[in-house]
Amino acid sequence: MDCNEALPLMHEYLDGGLKGKEAVALKEHLLACPACRERLKQFEKVEALIQAWPKQEVPSGLTERIMQALPPEKRKNPWWQWIRRHPAASVAAVFALVMMSSFMSLWNQDTELLVKGSDLRSVVIEGDTVYVPQGKTVAGNLTVENGKLKVDGDIEGNIVVIDGSVVMASTAHISGQITEIDEAFGWLWYKMNDWASTLSHK
Ligand SMILES: [Zn+2]
Repeated sequence: MDCNEALPLMHEYLDGGLKGKEAVALKEHLLACPACRERLKQFEKVEALIQAWPKQEVPSGLTERIMQALPPEKRKNPWWQWIRRHPAASVAAVFALVMMSSFMSLWNQDTELLVKGSDLRSVVIEGDTVYVPQGKTVAGNLTVENGKLKVDGDIEGNIVVIDGSVVMASTAHISGQITEIDEAFGWLWYKMNDWASTLSHK
């Protein structure tokens, strides 16, 4: 098996649908190929990020607005064209666009610290460090981009750190998952394109 054959199998594996001979073949390739092992690791991170991302309502006319906001070269991408031809085909596809556009703005931004969460009252920001002091609780998910997260207190939710680092004291308690993302954009792009091609074949 070569890397090109391994890629779709990894995809199936992540969707939970890989069994038997194919699963063994993929496992063998992964053992022999560090590049694909790294690729799978990145994939799992993006998967986790997509799970952690808040769901958004999709207002009417949004597809058109997003289409218009895209730079011309992006509009030539077959996926966008498919969306334009089937504007009402799938709310899921529009949701993907919404998510995609948030990611694009995320990754196009410079290196400014970004903190997102539903409960930021207990969060202290010092320079590029986001600090949750001991005895304090953040009730909900916390996302930090381009900065360091230092946790001495409690977080009742998931943590996502994008292009940054996380340090936890022994007093820290995190009820959810911790996800660290670097350069996820490429993987997201692949994932979304793949998803769109699945939709267009239905
Ligand atoms: Zn490989």
